Amino acid sequence: MIIDGKKEAQLLRNEIKKEIESIKLKNNKAPGLTVILIGDYAPSQIYVKNKEKNAKEVGINSEVARYPKDVTEQEVLKKIEELNNSDDVSGILVQLPLPPQISKEKIINAINPLKDVDGFHPTNVGNLSSGYSATVPCTPLGCLFLIKKIEKNLSGKHAVIIGRSNLNGKPMAQLLLKENCTVTIVHSKTKDLKAECLKADILVAAVGVANLVKGDWVKKDSIVIDVGINKVGDKIVGDVQFDEVKDKVKAITPVPGGVGPMTIACLLKNTLECFKGR
Ligand code: NAP
Repeated sequence: MIIDGKKEAQLLRNEIKKEIESIKLKNNKAPGLTVILIGDYAPSQIYVKNKEKNAKEVGINSEVARYPKDVTEQEVLKKIEELNNSDDVSGILVQLPLPPQISKEKIINAINPLKDVDGFHPTNVGNLSSGYSATVPCTPLGCLFLIKKIEKNLSGKHAVIIGRSNLNGKPMAQLLLKENCTVTIVHSKTKDLKAECLKADILVAAVGVANLVKGDWVKKDSIVIDVGINKVGDKIVGDVQFDEVKDKVKAITPVPGGVGPMTIACLLKNTLECFKGR
């Protein structure tokens, strides 16, 4: 089965839209999302445009605060403080990467964890790893959503995650641990990647290496989630060799059209949850 991320994201957005409409009717208020965008890095411009468009479609009040690439750290921190204190803003997102004069750590730490829709603040990271309520980074949250569409009960499954980034691999591992999976994280220093992947009932590839996972790396009837976005010529491909893998496994996400659309839908979900308060 090929998992249709576009369709699942649309279903999630419909649910979010419905909930926001009913909140608006009751309270005459709507969630607000402010994205801070620094510089003119083309992929960031595209991501932010998509986030803004999707937010507006579900009824989130969305704003983009734009700064030139030579903006000072002080100025961005001042804006974050203003947004932290604004009753109209339920979610704050600082689009990464940042220019070199701005410390990512300082910026992430400055965001109120209750408005941290990306789930990057150490409070949210700590809460997630402690098994408490937390805002979870959007991409792994979307991956879990898709996995659970295929298999509701993940208890006892062996999950293998390729990649250990704070953005993807680590939070994915925490989410799957919470689902009672046995979790293995593999990375660039892992000795025998293929042997580890072959143990997976659930394989999540979040690497950034085109077509790394081959047909003979996957177990029959496993679930394969491909987070990778890699440009090969004028094509976008994932970390998984899709054509070799697709007929062997129970379910697989395509690239594009798999995890990507879910990431933005989960950002909207996180914004709504931050608005409702935890
Ligand atoms: P990252 O920070 O660069 O982390 C990549 C991870 O993969 C690292 O842990 C690295 O190991 C590991 N790795 C690299 N080469 C490897 C190899 N040959 N064998 C095994 N492990 C290897 O990347 P990221 O931010 O997590 O992103 C991963 C991919 O997901 C990228 O393609 C990115 O564009 C994509 N992405 C997609 C979405 C979406 O919405 N679909 C969202 C975010 C990111 P070390 O730690 O040892 O270096």
